[in-house]
Amino acid sequence: MGRVLVIGAGLGGLTLAHALVRAGIDVQVFEADDGGGERFQGYRIGLGPLAMEALRANLPPRLYELAEVTSGSLTGPGMLFDERLTPLSRDLEGPSAETRAVDRQVLRRILLGGLEGRVAHGRRLTGLAEAADGTVTARFADGTQATGEVLVGADGGNSVVRRHLAPEVKLVDSDLCGAMGRTPLTDRFLRLVSGRGTMVKGPGITLMLGRMQFGREPSEAAAELAPELDMPYRDGYVRWVLMMPPDHPAATGPGVVGEDARELALELIDGWHPDLRELVRRADMSAVGRSKVHDRPMPSWPVGRITLLGDAAHLTLASGGNGANTALQDAVRLCARLAEAGRGARALTSALEEYRDDLLERGNAAVAFGKEALKRFVPAAGAAGTRPG
Ligand SMILES: Cc1cc2nc3c(=O)[nH]c(=O)nc-3n(C[C@H](O)[C@H](O)[C@H](O)COP(=O)(O)OP(=O)(O)OC[C@H]3O[C@@H](n4cnc5c(N)ncnc54)[C@H](O)[C@@H]3O)c2cc1C
Repeated sequence: MGRVLVIGAGLGGLTLAHALVRAGIDVQVFEADDGGGERFQGYRIGLGPLAMEALRANLPPRLYELAEVTSGSLTGPGMLFDERLTPLSRDLEGPSAETRAVDRQVLRRILLGGLEGRVAHGRRLTGLAEAADGTVTARFADGTQATGEVLVGADGGNSVVRRHLAPEVKLVDSDLCGAMGRTPLTDRFLRLVSGRGTMVKGPGITLMLGRMQFGREPSEAAAELAPELDMPYRDGYVRWVLMMPPDHPAATGPGVVGEDARELALELIDGWHPDLRELVRRADMSAVGRSKVHDRPMPSWPVGRITLLGDAAHLTLASGGNGANTALQDAVRLCARLAEAGRGARALTSALEEYRDDLLERGNAAVAFGKEALKRFVPAAGAAGTRPG
């Protein structure tokens, strides 16, 4: 099996790279970001048992241990309150007890470990072409190019690779609009957020709270388990998301970040319980905007040497809480098919065909789940100002 080119060093692309290295397949990852900054893409994610198993099976053991010991528990009841913090329920549906809370940036730094020399930053894919000799060539914005036997688009929701395979799929605004932020975890806020999360239903707006309480502080755990990693110190935090109907005036403007976003969020919860207002006031990061989504399910494509993985093929809404979980499954399954082809157990085309069909079925189901789940959180357009049930 020749070299596999992976476009995008996100959660899915990096997990695939680890899996391929384990399977003895040559892989090179190309990432548009220069590697210096931390891209804003939410804070905490919940990884279920299958995703944790994908990490356990494919990461070097000490890197998996680092992911596990730094992750947080999501056990404990889910709580539902009104905006004055009157308890309404203590058995709110939430992630399963085995789901682990993982800080996205911590996980990404862990995933970059053990791949030295295999991840090239500052390489934005601009074009690609398949040749008659069975190779595929990627062209990058910096004028360089790379050739391999298979190319995997793990380049997120606005994927260049997806536009090559299915140009008819467009990125459009979704009905998920809101403000989100991160607030350092103090005792005052700890009691607001149980393990499985808290939902506060106010007039026309829902506030979701999730706790990221590291099992071990990441820089300290990394110093022991993987000292070569660049892992900054991090305190625990509450991740909060204010969700509003798509026609809410605050949702129809351009996206804002930082101080302006915090002020807007405070306006939205005017008159709410002082603890909730304080939570928003003390945020160290915040943003207001509207999530993007693909305008249709990903269609099938004729199998060649190019395929997709993760959000590139199925851009799920955060309301589903399943995008990263699905991307990690894609990585495991794609690696298994490529390894079969590499061993000569089957033709590469047949392996990629089976993977494509599996990806489309699971991925499109994950997207549909996220859209359906959104209805639990926000009233439909036209209902702004009414209290959701
Ligand atoms: C607020 C929020 C909360 C979420 N919570 C959860 C959760 O609890 N559970 C869950 O399972 N999922 C969650 N998700 C979804 C999850 O984050 C994504 O599904 C997951 O990150 C997808 O991984 P990926 O590897 O496909 O893409 P990404 O992680 O987006 O990575 C794509 C990479 O490709 C790079 N790239 C893009 N274009 C190019 C190019 N042209 N050339 C080279 N590189 C390129 C990008 O810089 C990026 O590094 C959440 C998402 C959001 C926004």
